Amino acid sequence: MDVAVVGAGAAGLYAALTAVEEGARVALVSRSPLAQTASYWAQGGIAAALAQDDAPELHLADTIAAGRDAARESAVRVLCDESPGRVRDLERLGVSFDADRQGNLALGLEGGHSQRRIVHAGGAATGRRITRELSAAAAQHDRVEVLEPRAATALTVAGGRCVGLVARSRKGDPLPLLARATILATGGMAALWQRTTNPRGAVGAGLALAHAAGAALADLEFMQFHPTALRVEGPQDGFLITEAVRGEGAVLLDERGERFVDELAPRDEVALAIQAQLDQGGRPAVMLDMRSVDIGRFPNIAAALGDLGLDPRRDVLPVAPAAHYTMGGVACDLDGRSSLPGLYAVGESACTGLHGANRLASNSLAECFVFGRRAALAACEDPEPPAAAEPDESIHTRPPADETRAALWRHAGLRREAAGLRVLSSDASPLARLIGASCLAREESRGAHQRSDHPQTDPALDGMHTLVDSAGTPRFERWT
Ligand SMILES: Cc1cc2nc3c(=O)[nH]c(=O)nc-3n(C[C@H](O)[C@H](O)[C@H](O)COP(=O)(O)OP(=O)(O)OC[C@H]3O[C@@H](n4cnc5c(N)ncnc54)[C@H](O)[C@@H]3O)c2cc1C
Repeated sequence: MDVAVVGAGAAGLYAALTAVEEGARVALVSRSPLAQTASYWAQGGIAAALAQDDAPELHLADTIAAGRDAARESAVRVLCDESPGRVRDLERLGVSFDADRQGNLALGLEGGHSQRRIVHAGGAATGRRITRELSAAAAQHDRVEVLEPRAATALTVAGGRCVGLVARSRKGDPLPLLARATILATGGMAALWQRTTNPRGAVGAGLALAHAAGAALADLEFMQFHPTALRVEGPQDGFLITEAVRGEGAVLLDERGERFVDELAPRDEVALAIQAQLDQGGRPAVMLDMRSVDIGRFPNIAAALGDLGLDPRRDVLPVAPAAHYTMGGVACDLDGRSSLPGLYAVGESACTGLHGANRLASNSLAECFVFGRRAALAACEDPEPPAAAEPDESIHTRPPADETRAALWRHAGLRREAAGLRVLSSDASPLARLIGASCLAREESRGAHQRSDHPQTDPALDGMHTLVDSAGTPRFERWT
């Protein structure tokens, strides 16, 4: 095998399709069916400077501002320059984006963007439409071997390189795979937190595998909380209501029915303002009023609310923040290379430094395609794997216990402090321990990381990321 890709969300599918275009043979390993990827659920769209009056420089300025002086400018530049080209590639692959009456791409506005630049499909069904096309293309390609349902349970390291992985079936049968390069595209870890917008499988399996194999992780303290996740009893609790509805005029109301925040400010600001309301009033939710919004533009939101007996043309909707997006991940260069040769990471499992301390809305799907492609091209150039190698299966990735999810929500939620974070140091989950250590090390407040005991931003940490190597002790380094 030339390239093994772990994960079949937007990043993994796109990396696999890029690699086969280069002539590679690809094994695509996925633990779950498509509907259980965050990519499938993505609503708003892809950020790309495509409007006449927009430019990559403007997109770059918005991304840097949202990242709260912690983003890696070189990564932001790559994203903003290359995202328009990837949107055009997706169109060539058969994705049909929403158009205006003149047949031009209909561009949405989301929080933190100074321009309309969000490309979307099927209203708020963007992820579903894209993953449908990409997975069909991957399934039909004769150089892609789809191994699903199979979970990567260990990476194989030989001579200081990652040379493949072990993929286990649901029954536990191991399938060792050797490859010149392994690309992790396993998504984020927001489902490690009790209240989340993510599918249950988003528990950072790729981060755990990479760490166990000796690759460095970065910025684990930066978990983005989405401001407007539905607050209801039952399984629909946490259902995300895209900020694109706020771009179309939806407003947030306090208990007196008054607005209290600029609804289009970056996410960290809006989430904290909502949380402050909840803390003050001791209530479970504030209200999102989208009665003035054309709901026909968001058919999947209307359908999900309809199942709950809610009509957004008539009812105001209870919302509260929920863990949503992992800004940290496997520390990578601009071609997705991790610190372990032969191992790459893309999409939400990677940390290129692009998002800094606060991701700008709709930059993550763009990231999947921009960096998924770059990693696939680099991976195809790696040397052949050895004829045989022994995997180390001593470390398995297990689903998190309910206690871990509760502890992360309580101690590493929207506001943290040292005493609570120290509790995480004895958690059963190795990832929870690393998250706690990273949160403790960053003695400041910045973007998604708000320390009650260190409420100021420390200018000495501008442009610095938190690196965790195999020893598990965080240290700060400057992005280059
Ligand atoms: C509700 C919601 C709405 C969103 N809306 C937007 C939006 O509008 N715009 C935007 O830019 N971003 C949005 N995001 C974020 C964005 O969707 C994600 O960041 C992005 O889709 C992540 O893609 P991915 O390919 O990295 O991971 P995922 O799509 O999560 O895919 C991960 C894959 O890895 C597999 N996997 C995991 N562990 C293993 C293992 N051990 N072995 C084998 N396979 C494994 C999973 O089965 C899955 O196939 C949204 C997220 C959510 C949850």
